[in-house]
Amino acid sequence: MPIDFYSKLTNASGVYTFRDFVLVPGRSDVEPSKVDLSVNLTKNVHLNLPLVSSPMDTVTEADMAIALARQGGIGIIHRNMSIEEQVENAKRVKRAESFIIRDVVTIAPSQKISDALELMNTKSISGLPVVQDGERMVGILTRRDVNFSDPKEQVSQVMTKEVIVASPDVTIEDAKKIMNKRKVEKLPVVDQNKRLLGLITIKDVYSRERFPLATRDNQERLLVGAAISPYDLDRAKALEKYVDILVSDVAHFHNTNVLEAAKKLTKEVAVEFIAGNLGTLEGARDTLEALDGRVAGIRAGVGSGSICVTSEVTKAGAPTLFAVAQIAAAMQETGLQIPIIADGGIRAAGDGALALAAGASAVMMGNVFAGCTESPGGLIKIGGKYYKPYRGMGSLGSRQKRFAIDRYNQPAKGIAEGVEGVVPYRGDVSTVVEEFSGGLRASFGYAGASSVKDLWVKARFGAVTAAGIDEMRPHSIILPGEEKI
Ligand code: 5GP
Repeated sequence: MPIDFYSKLTNASGVYTFRDFVLVPGRSDVEPSKVDLSVNLTKNVHLNLPLVSSPMDTVTEADMAIALARQGGIGIIHRNMSIEEQVENAKRVKRAESFIIRDVVTIAPSQKISDALELMNTKSISGLPVVQDGERMVGILTRRDVNFSDPKEQVSQVMTKEVIVASPDVTIEDAKKIMNKRKVEKLPVVDQNKRLLGLITIKDVYSRERFPLATRDNQERLLVGAAISPYDLDRAKALEKYVDILVSDVAHFHNTNVLEAAKKLTKEVAVEFIAGNLGTLEGARDTLEALDGRVAGIRAGVGSGSICVTSEVTKAGAPTLFAVAQIAAAMQETGLQIPIIADGGIRAAGDGALALAAGASAVMMGNVFAGCTESPGGLIKIGGKYYKPYRGMGSLGSRQKRFAIDRYNQPAKGIAEGVEGVVPYRGDVSTVVEEFSGGLRASFGYAGASSVKDLWVKARFGAVTAAGIDEMRPHSIILPGEEKI
């Protein structure tokens, strides 16, 4: 059969991007403030806001993951670091908050005050339960006790012996009452035999009130994910105890070797696995078949990232909106309801709303979060304005670091698929998330949708022409700062 090259061109389907569409306003009885933005990112991971930060070395380490989880989303720790460092980042998120801390740092009564001081300083903690024979609590040592003592004295000479404690079934409200009444900031949890089971701190109790939307696990710790290569079983095994999800971090998941590796890996790790990136119906179909029930979510989008030059260099790509709709079609075909994460190219809430309307359950953003205080890297001042560094994980600088630490990242492709630069500083994650979720709520209001699932049903897409793109932004006006133009 001769190959019909001409039809390949004439039958080409449109690969749509965010700027090709608008959400057509629909009849609405939904007030934006009443919109429910909570979603399932996977079967087990429930988010109060559909926001995920990209696993990139200028976007997500522990600080970003903590800040975003407190607002209701989740951060995915990047993998451009050693396994130990990535595990430590995940642990930092898990330690940031918990109602009852389980891995309590303790000291023995026979140790010296100087030991206590060192522990407090290295672990950044202000109070140590004093534990005899590794189990029984006999006192508590606070920073105040330590500061006014001779470093050579024994802990048992200085510690407070009458300790206010709680039983294992204590509720948050009870703990708060006890701590307020007895004016203590630490409340050890002990059983009938005074065996130390955990520790409640006033900071954690109040944190629950300060961050009512925070996404938490069943021990009240913040949720966190980590990126892995599907080939890197060692990393996955090291991380699985400390993260809520593992997220595949390859540009082209629809590759026979990658599928094979992911198949093996998902059989060996217990934690949920998000596959990706994928861009087509066939890619999703093959992934679902190969991983046979072990896909908890799919990252959708190839080549749309703001730092991405994949499509420019290779002419390969599946823009995020197209990818989401394609993968949603695969879900419809298979009858599976596996959440889709729209990844790449999302500049503002409107793009996020379109991605959700096309079938996504959450949006993953690099550029938007890179500009926040909590992303790695300091502020850069250029011409009186502040910026933060941002680079693609396929950029030269990022790849050089990865090749140095990760044996699974052989430079198979000799070309850079990302660029390095700066993005405007946007402020704290809390401000950015508030603005973004406000925008999403407004979009939902126009579409008449009260939740993401409702949006899937009610959203109507309008195709925009080139003339429309020009008209649907401020025009025929000189804006402040543009006066000279
Ligand atoms: P952004 O939010 O900046 O538009 O897109 C972020 C997403 O771009 C990431 O979540 C990831 O999927 C993708 N990405 C990150 N680094 C690179 C890169 O160097 N090349 C390409 N092609 N994509 C990248």
